[in-house]
Amino acid sequence: MDFQLPAEITAKLAELDAFIEAEIKPLEAENMQFFDHRRENARTDWDNDGRPRAEWRALIAEMEKRADRAGHLRMGLPKSCGGQAASNLMVAAIREHLAAKGLGLHNDLQDESSIVGNFPIVPVLAAYGTPEQKLYIDGIITGEMHLSFALTEPGHGSDATWLDTTAKRDGDHWVINGMKRWNSQVARAHGNLVFARSSGKPGDADGITAFIVPTATPGHTVLFNHWTFNMPSDHAETELKDVRVPNSAILYKEGQGLQVAQRFIHENRIRQAAASAGAARYCIAEAAKYARSRIAFGEPLSKKQAIQFPLVELYAECEMVRNFIFKTAWQMDRQDALEISDMVSICNFRANRLCCEAADRAMQTHGGMGYSRAMPFEHIYRHHRRYRITEGSEEVQMRRVAQYLFGFAGKRATQ
Ligand SMILES: Cc1cc2nc3c(=O)[nH]c(=O)nc-3n(C[C@H](O)[C@H](O)[C@H](O)COP(=O)(O)OP(=O)(O)OC[C@H]3O[C@@H](n4cnc5c(N)ncnc54)[C@H](O)[C@@H]3O)c2cc1C
Repeated sequence: MDFQLPAEITAKLAELDAFIEAEIKPLEAENMQFFDHRRENARTDWDNDGRPRAEWRALIAEMEKRADRAGHLRMGLPKSCGGQAASNLMVAAIREHLAAKGLGLHNDLQDESSIVGNFPIVPVLAAYGTPEQKLYIDGIITGEMHLSFALTEPGHGSDATWLDTTAKRDGDHWVINGMKRWNSQVARAHGNLVFARSSGKPGDADGITAFIVPTATPGHTVLFNHWTFNMPSDHAETELKDVRVPNSAILYKEGQGLQVAQRFIHENRIRQAAASAGAARYCIAEAAKYARSRIAFGEPLSKKQAIQFPLVELYAECEMVRNFIFKTAWQMDRQDALEISDMVSICNFRANRLCCEAADRAMQTHGGMGYSRAMPFEHIYRHHRRYRITEGSEEVQMRRVAQYLFGFAGKRATQ
């Protein structure tokens, strides 16, 4: 057994590094106001409900265009979408590697844009979409026709089988009524993937349908934006009032919308974990470097065990989590990924928590400057803190592991 990453993966990482130096760093250098201590101010359109500024989005679009031209942007996507169908291991290694390089235009945290794109909705459309629905695919990749995701509601998040939003059949149309919360990027979207109960009763897994609703449809209204820990943000409250869509708006099958949602979330969980592990590795390395150079009480901080030991704990945890993520991704390439969703959940909640702890420790080790926006750690903390709630919160991930550990819900009981 060889525990090295395969040579084709390490070669790809080196290729990405060279591309970043040649094509992305110069672009970043020309636009430093988006990356230095003023970054939130430069990026946020305060007069437009705290949404991202048009100039900031334009810069992301240019980064993505360059990455697409170089053949990197679509790497993780199916071949039918112009992608290279990279393995889960390849994508996890890339996510970890890019995050471990620290903050930058190559892998920006704000809306999770990266030179190797993260488009979890695209494989879902490729697998389940009609030819007409698949027209969204290229628009999503190029940023010209975004499709947002509307599952969460004011009354329900983790318990997605209890949605209050309803869809009632009216001839060959459906009429949707309800409210959606945390409807990310819907303000710039052309379509909104809305989940609504079309049959069955609260708590049933069947009976929820996914509809692609054009955002210009009468009755579909973006009400306001939620301001978050990490500005700018683009996470809206959306109202659906007598929204009428044809039967052809259904993505996949009537009543089987949760399968669509599950596939979307599952795509993201392992990648999010890999990004968190990489960002944790960056924070730990930077803190160790600073501790070696900072002189306190006449000697380097690194000589103090109170500085060493917390970083040693994090370093040990990071090594284990990182390797478990790579092993899980490797296994996902060999069997149905949903069969090992407990392993994916372990990766997710442990890596996201680790990243927050590592960013917090890096702030502490850097003292007052660690707390300032001149250093990247507070930004890393704010972003990755979100991962402990979205894509299934920590508790929801643990709930999944418990299903396997105790043999609930038809899952295998661990011996
Ligand atoms: C920045 C951001 C962007 C988002 N983007 C989107 C998006 O684009 N589309 C979308 O649909 N949603 C989005 N979400 C919503 C996100 O998916 C939900 O916030 C998440 O699923 C949790 O739901 P909730 O907020 O309703 O919390 P709740 O489900 O009410 O949970 C509250 C707390 O209770 C815990 N809890 C819940 N059930 C259990 C249980 N059985 N056992 C133990 N503890 C439990 C939770 O872990 C949590 O800590 C986003 C959220 C944020 C913060």
